[in-house]
Formats: sequence, structure tokens, C-alpha cells
Amino acid sequence: MGRIILFGFIIFLGLISCKETREKNHDFSTKAILVYNATIIDVVNGNVLKDKAILIDSGIIKRVGDYNTLKSMINLNNQINVEGKFIIPGLWDMHVHIEGQDLVDDNLALLPVFVAYGITTVRDMASDLGEQVLAWREDIKEDKLLGPQIFTAGRKLEGINSIWKGDLEIANEDDLSKMLDKLEAYNVDLVKITENTLAGPLFLKSVQEARKRGFKVSGHIPIDLTIQEVVDAGFTSIEHASYLLRLGSDEKGIVERLNSGDISRNQANAYYSTAFNQDTAMLAYQKLSKTNIAITPTLIGGKQLAYLEEDDHSEDDFLEFLTDRFTANYQWRIDRMANDTPEQKMDRKKRYELIAKQLPYIQKAGIKILAGSDAAALNTFVYPALSLHQELELFQKAGLTSLEILQSATINGAELMGQLNTMGTIEANKQADMVILNSNPLLDIRGTRDIYAVINDGQYFNRTDLDSLLNEAKQTKKRLDKERK
Ligand SMILES: [Zn+2]
Repeated sequence: MGRIILFGFIIFLGLISCKETREKNHDFSTKAILVYNATIIDVVNGNVLKDKAILIDSGIIKRVGDYNTLKSMINLNNQINVEGKFIIPGLWDMHVHIEGQDLVDDNLALLPVFVAYGITTVRDMASDLGEQVLAWREDIKEDKLLGPQIFTAGRKLEGINSIWKGDLEIANEDDLSKMLDKLEAYNVDLVKITENTLAGPLFLKSVQEARKRGFKVSGHIPIDLTIQEVVDAGFTSIEHASYLLRLGSDEKGIVERLNSGDISRNQANAYYSTAFNQDTAMLAYQKLSKTNIAITPTLIGGKQLAYLEEDDHSEDDFLEFLTDRFTANYQWRIDRMANDTPEQKMDRKKRYELIAKQLPYIQKAGIKILAGSDAAALNTFVYPALSLHQELELFQKAGLTSLEILQSATINGAELMGQLNTMGTIEANKQADMVILNSNPLLDIRGTRDIYAVINDGQYFNRTDLDSLLNEAKQTKKRLDKERK
């Protein structure tokens, strides 16, 4: 009998604890919010999910479901009606440079501007501020600083005496190993490699060694290597679609002739632009798509330079956010092009248009496209935050569908960074990063600029909040300009 009572008691305890766990699941913090009457755009398949409620607590999407089921779990004051609005995952800018040793305050003031433009994640592709960006990455993670989540390459690998400031320059495998140790100690999110003075063989070795250590590797393609060689060595993403133009001709033959001293670098480059054949390129894209390589086209930078004469930027609204010291950096590229002949100017435009034209082909071949602006102080008129939206618009002009474009700026980035389990879509248990839009971006991608509210790492910013972030950045610009006079 005693035993039966004891047994019954244990079951009773079990039931109580079961009930407790269930209730605990409903027990959200007082800061939890419920966004309801939402139209969610599922960026995986383009489905439009109407009348959804999203419950967010402690930076995480806890539930996506029916308002009537969820409303009792959240304080009425924390319920936000977004009827008639469209919700997409927070945008990723997969190629920025937070750079400039003398632009620390300037860059710091721009971090909230990304959030105000709906960009909740950036991939920083290395700069002379490497350690500073790594520190900001941590501060943002720990909620000490407001900004997009940062993935960063820290500082990039290059050859000796390159034109880039603050890179990690290597002359041999010994140097390479030391620099990779350094990047490992920095705990960078990827390794970036460029080709200004880094010769092909050591470049390939760098890709291989970085991969061996478990890094993702992104960067440029040296002229003395074929794209296939770099990809086979373990490249994760090619930065800038301009390199793909090589695939429209006999790239392998050209690289061989260059390496045997038969032709010069200039001749090789000239050949790539004159001998381009679209069918040849398409076959090469299809072959390349089997390797899992991704591409960040970065169209907007090339577009700004190609159309520099037609477009007057002096009245651009965005200049209100950028200090005089920041925009002073724009001049070097303008000066570099100042003596271009009319023919060179025409070629630059043609080349830009040909690169942009490749996007639908690349997409059709099955290569993942990553939206990245290349926004940087050194990249003329490629404004932080805004330029990602301009990039998306150029993708639309080039012929990608709105869904493909949304994917390039959300799930494709999350997948490349190995974060698709926790980021990139609006689903339970994912990080709460999303943009609430007044207009449907599936009808016109420019809808991503028509921002009603942003949820960044679970924090809700309505339009007034976003405007005050923008206003603060404008005030900082004015103050810094004044202090430096
Ligand atoms: Zn770049």
C-alpha cells in the first residue's frame, strides 16, 4: 500500500513538473513583443504569408503563428499592429569596408545608420581598422553598441608593398603561416586575399592553408591564375563580378600565355574584354556552379565610376551623414580617371553594362549571388548602407527577379557564413532581425527602402526611432567637421 502511495506521489510530482515546464514556455519576459497582422515574405520560396503574428523575446523569434493563440502570452502594451505592412528578414550587406585610421569616430557614427536602412548584418572585407572592427563586433554582440551584426576578415593577405593600407603582407610560406596565426588569434570570421602584389603560386598556397585551418576564404582572382584553380584550392566566394568576364573567352589559354611570357598583363586584360562570348561564359558558369562557389558582384562601385560625368553627386542627401574627412577619400579615384580619353570613358561604361548583364546568366547557372555594396571611404560615392539598396536596384535592372534579389541579401549570406540555422529567415528559434516595409518588395525591390520599422537583434525601432538614429548621425557629422576645422 505504502509503495502504491509513494508511486502515486511520484507520478503526481511528475505531472506538476510537466505542467510547470509547459507554463514556463509561455512565460516570456516583460520585454517580449508581439508583432501581429503581419504579412511575412518567405524568402526561401517567395510565398506571402498573411495574418501572422511574430513573438520575439530576448533577441530570438520564439513563435510565428496565429494572433489569437499568442496574444494572451504578451502584455497588450507590447503588441504591435503592422496591418498592411510586409516583413522581410534583416538585410545583409556582404561586402563593406569599415576603414580609415583617421575615420574611427566617423565609422562609429555610421553603424546605427546601417540599422536604420534595414541592414542588420554586414560582412566587413578587411581594412586598416581590423582590430577596431573586431572590437566593435564584440561590443555589438554584447549590446554595448548599436549596429548591424558584424562578420569580419580583420586584415587581408597581400603581397609585399601592395597599394593597400594595413594589409598583412607576405613574401613566402613562412610569412603566410605567421599571418594566419595572427588571424586565428583575432578570431576572424573569414580570410580575405587580394592580388595586387601577391603572385599566383603563393596566392594559391594561401587559399589552401587558410582552408586547412577551417577558414572561409574570399577575395579577388590573380591574373596569373584561372578562376577554376582558385576555386579548386578552396575559395568560398569571388568578390566582384568583373573577374567572371574572363570566362567568356579562353581563360586557360590566356593564363598559360601570360605565365610563359608570351603576352603582358595588359594584353591579357584587353583580350578578356574584346574576346568575350556569352555562350562560352554561360558554359563556364554552369561548370563553376558545381563547385559551390558564390559571387558578390558589387556593381554599384563600377556604376558610380562609369557614370561619374553624367551623375552629379554634389547634392546627394546621404552626404549629410559623411564627414568632409570621409568624402575627401573619394578624390583619388576621380583623379585617377581625370585624364581618361573619351574612348576610355566609353569602354568603362560598356564594361560596366557587360558585367551587369551577367547576373541573370550567373543566377540561371546556379551560382549563389551575394548582395554586397563594397561601401568604403575609399570607394567613391559608394555610400555606407544606402549603397546596398542601390545595388539591389541594379540587380533588378540587370534582370534578376525580386525573390532572387531578396535571397541574395538574406539567406544566401547566412548560408555562406554557416548561419542559416540561426539567421536569414523569419522562423522560430532564429535571431530576431527583420525589416517591416510599407511596400511589397516582391513587386519592386525598391520597396526595401520604404521602411516602416526595423527589428535588430530583437530590438524594435519604429519610424520615429529610426529617424532619430539618422538625425544623431547627421549631428555627429556636423560636430566632427566643426572640430576638425
Ligand atoms: Zn572591397
